[in-house]
Amino acid sequence: MTPSREEIVSENREYTLFSWSVQSAANPITMVGGHGSHFVDADGNEWLDIASQLININVGHQHPKVIEAIKKQVDELCFAAPAFATEARGKLGKKLAEVTGLAKSFFTLGGSEANENAMKIARLVTGRDKIITRYRSYHGATMGSMTASGDPRRWPVEPGIPGIVRAFDPYCYRCPFGKEPTSCRRECVSHIEEIIQMEGPHNVAAIMVEGITGSNGLLVPPDDYYPKLRALCDKYDILLITDEVMSGFGRTGTYLSTQHYGILPDIVTSAKGLTSGYMPLGAVIVNQRIADFFENSMLWGGLTYSSHPVSCAAALANLQVYEEEHLFENATLLGAYLAERLEGMRASYACVGDVRYKGLFTVIELVRDKETKEPLAPFNGTSPEMQKLAGHLKSKYLYAFSRFNMLWICPPLVITKDELDFALSAIEEGLALVDEIIGARQVV
Ligand code: PMP
Repeated sequence: MTPSREEIVSENREYTLFSWSVQSAANPITMVGGHGSHFVDADGNEWLDIASQLININVGHQHPKVIEAIKKQVDELCFAAPAFATEARGKLGKKLAEVTGLAKSFFTLGGSEANENAMKIARLVTGRDKIITRYRSYHGATMGSMTASGDPRRWPVEPGIPGIVRAFDPYCYRCPFGKEPTSCRRECVSHIEEIIQMEGPHNVAAIMVEGITGSNGLLVPPDDYYPKLRALCDKYDILLITDEVMSGFGRTGTYLSTQHYGILPDIVTSAKGLTSGYMPLGAVIVNQRIADFFENSMLWGGLTYSSHPVSCAAALANLQVYEEEHLFENATLLGAYLAERLEGMRASYACVGDVRYKGLFTVIELVRDKETKEPLAPFNGTSPEMQKLAGHLKSKYLYAFSRFNMLWICPPLVITKDELDFALSAIEEGLALVDEIIGARQVV
């Protein structure tokens, strides 16, 4: 007999630890199955998943073609140590070279480990030890990747690993340099040059940035940001690492988000949408110069489960689904529709300060006051209004990701327009509720 929701939750709580949680406050939704954009909980409720779980399940829940490829690989070969060559691994490496324009892939178990290795590879190749990252960034939860992250999630591991230097972000709504579009001189790039000079160009191995910043508020850079950053890296022979763990593999309608800006990084890290979460896998994808370096030099790294054949087979099938079902096209088309709706919300609701989007990678930033831009919840905190909004969405069985004063809309790339419309109506109802509260306060 299938266990009840209570039985599942109590066993989970009694015998397991939940990540990123104060254990006594953990209040997990159960999950027993799913299909497309929906998952099903142990009470039989169907939730519309506009967070794509952790912005990773891009082909949607329980896609039959990915499941079939995993089963086939399991029947043939469940495991091969990473020193062995397998068909799935080679084919996946070849496919990734084709779609990214880079040369070779080093496979990992996920995004954090990919970023650890990207930083290590950059240090080995350049012989330099500093890595410049940005404040509003998240690169993972292992020691190095957590230190490289700029947001408060790194605080508990500080001082972390040495050699991380941080810069400010292209956050145009709240420009860290106090600029407006008309006065902006791309200080978000030029101050990085100043940082390089202060740190010593001969000490800086790499600049590592999220392709498009995800969990710190979906910061879409100005169109010339990347060309300028690429030029800066070239000027000082510094490697450009883009973390495409969240922004890559169809989320914005392209394989790499930087493909929108016409530049090629030296190293790309990937995970999440690489397998849509069906198996754990990440990749460090490097250019020819870096690949050549390791022809005659040791690549110090690799774990027992690196290049796992079942994960590689899942990734190959997942990438095939993207192409066969034209999912990137869907992300672009529905992304354009979503952008229009978001702009409508910005115009209609007092609490909508900013909306940012690229494909199906979108966020609403909520404020208490449009003029002052006072956030609806404090940085690194929450508020009754944000909880009200989240509670409303939950009551509609709409699963969404929210953090501080922001609400993300990042559905699976298979979402239909009807499903998206359902989600957007529920969100608009929630925004109206928030407007009522802040409106009432303003009158008082
Ligand atoms: N980089 C980015 C941009 C991410 O969003 C995440 C996860 N949310 C990671 C790295 C870490 O990846 P993982 O959880 O697979 O280790």
